[in-house]
Amino acid sequence: MKTDSASFQSADSLFPKDRSGVIEWLQSRGDALEALYRRADAVRHARMGDEIPLRGIIEFSNACANDCLYCGIRRSNSKVRRYTLDEKEIVDLARQMEAWQQTTVVLQSGEAETYGDQAIGELIRRIKTETHLAVTLSVGNRSREVYAYWRDCGLDRFLLRFETSDPALYARLHPDGSLKDRLDCLQALRSLGIQTGSGFMIGLPGETIEILAQNILLCRELDFDMIGIGPFIAHPDTPLGGESNAYANDPDMFFRTMAVLRLANPQAHLPATTAYDALFPNSGRNLALQRGANVFMPNNTPARYRKDYLLYPGKPCDDETSEQRASHVFLRLRSLGRPPGVGPGHSHRSQTASAT
Ligand code: SAH
Repeated sequence: MKTDSASFQSADSLFPKDRSGVIEWLQSRGDALEALYRRADAVRHARMGDEIPLRGIIEFSNACANDCLYCGIRRSNSKVRRYTLDEKEIVDLARQMEAWQQTTVVLQSGEAETYGDQAIGELIRRIKTETHLAVTLSVGNRSREVYAYWRDCGLDRFLLRFETSDPALYARLHPDGSLKDRLDCLQALRSLGIQTGSGFMIGLPGETIEILAQNILLCRELDFDMIGIGPFIAHPDTPLGGESNAYANDPDMFFRTMAVLRLANPQAHLPATTAYDALFPNSGRNLALQRGANVFMPNNTPARYRKDYLLYPGKPCDDETSEQRASHVFLRLRSLGRPPGVGPGHSHRSQTASAT
């Protein structure tokens, strides 16, 4: 990248044609890095606006049947106290969220049968009937039939990160499934007309810069509605506990990745994820929002369960109520000069698609 004066409208045409070009951007330093950040912010402003849609997350169960090597709530971690919220508690929380200008509820959990497919369907139906919220699910791999049933219950969106685009690395980290299974699920979601979010972790042990560039290119190729990324953080009670992030010595890489991802996907919703704050307390998510991200996901998991949903250490888990947390989010956005979003915050892709 030569200067930041390049027109951001032409972000699509300027994007490197091949992986080596992406790698070059990911190696930006000094003035070139500042220019990269400025361009990502300009493209975010031009394509997504300044409003920050608030998507409140409820981590409704940490029960999990899978054993992903990096994840703190993996099946084999016997130190975890397992919990599952009941339907009433989830719906009550969802109702409160509306007052806090959170226009989407993101229901996330481990992958287990404790909440059956039908119970989740009924939960979606209740939230869609009793509130004005958009509903996103993030509960892992299911069959096309189950996704279709949830869509018929009113489901708007689904989040399913592919985690890494490298099939061998994926296989090493996930004893319970292949990259192909994951991509098939994403394909099924997309074909059902469910707004589809995916993404990856940055710096998994064994990740090379080639793989990182490929992760970005896969997001561009599959043209997701939303893309969530965040640094890998080693959890001590997992097999990767002793490993460090592949970019431990170059933490700018987490933000370069966000900026390049914005240029690769100008109109995708990109959340500033919690893992950025875990690595850079209080400032990580703000910086992400200034370098390409446009969405914030306040955590509404009840305080008494937060420390039981530790996917990685350093996740903020104070004793504040969800309401106190929600008010801190407003202060944070005000300090950035960015207003909370109004409206459901649906995909810009589907708006474009339905307008044409
Ligand atoms: N069971 C659901 C939700 C997974 S948790 C599913 O499979 O989709 C949400 C995300 O947290 C994961 O997709 C993963 O990218 C991230 N995550 C898990 N462990 C992590 C760690 N140690 N460091 C950083 N991110 C992690």
